[in-house]
Amino acid sequence: MNRALDRDIDRALRLFRSGRYFEVLQAYEAYLDRRKTGKHYAFKSKKIHTDVFYDMKRALQFRHVCELSVLMLLSGLREAGVLNQINLIMGPERGAVPLLYAIEPYLPSRDVRIVIAQKSGIEQNLWQLPQGSVFQADDRALYLDDTWRRGDTFKEVQRVCNEEALHTKRSTRIEGSDEIASEVTVVAIGVCVNRAATCWSPRRFMPSISWVENIHDPLEAYPEDNCPWCKENVPVESVE
Ligand SMILES: [Zn+2]
Repeated sequence: MNRALDRDIDRALRLFRSGRYFEVLQAYEAYLDRRKTGKHYAFKSKKIHTDVFYDMKRALQFRHVCELSVLMLLSGLREAGVLNQINLIMGPERGAVPLLYAIEPYLPSRDVRIVIAQKSGIEQNLWQLPQGSVFQADDRALYLDDTWRRGDTFKEVQRVCNEEALHTKRSTRIEGSDEIASEVTVVAIGVCVNRAATCWSPRRFMPSISWVENIHDPLEAYPEDNCPWCKENVPVESVE
C-alpha cells in the first residue's frame, strides 16, 4: 500500500468519525428525511413506503461524494486485510457504477477487472452480464453496491457471475494447461448505506465474507395500503 493512499484513507476515516459523511450526503440532497422535507417516499416495485430515503444514485454522480465513499470503503477493506487479494470488482448497473470505477485505481492488484451486471429487457428480475466478461480461476471478488437491503441484488449478480465463470472458456495461464472452471470467490462486500435490519445482517448470513458499510440505518417501511404517513396525509414521492 502506498503512503499517499494510506494518508487519503486516514483522512476519510477522520471525516467519517466526525460524522462528515452524513453531512456530505445531506449537502448533496441525498439524505431525504420526512422531518426535514415534509414528504415520505414510495418504493413502487416493492409496494412499501418509508420516511427516510438515501438517494445514492444521485449522490454518487458527484465526484466529491464518490471519492469520499470509496476512501471510506477502502479503509474498511484495509482493516479487513483483503485489499491485496481483490482482482475482480462486481456490482449491479444503476447507482453503484461510479463506485466500481472510482475504487479500481486504488486496488493494488495489477489486473483488476470490472464486471457490471445488467437487468435484461422488460423482465425486471433477470440479470445478465455484458458479452465477453472475463473470469479467471483465481478470481477473488469485491462486490459493491450503493445501498443494501436484503441482499437480493447481490444474490442475482453473484448467480450470473458464477454461471458465466463456470461456462467461460478460460485463458491458458500456464502453457499447455487449462484452468479449472470454478465459481467466483467473493472476499468482500462494500456498500455505502446498509438499510438491513439487524436480523438481516449480512455478517450473520455470510460470515466468511468481509463486510464494509459506510452507514447503517435500518429501513423503517410499511405496506402502501397500511402506511401511517398516508393516513396522516403526508405527501408521498415516488423514488423508483
Ligand atoms: Zn404512505
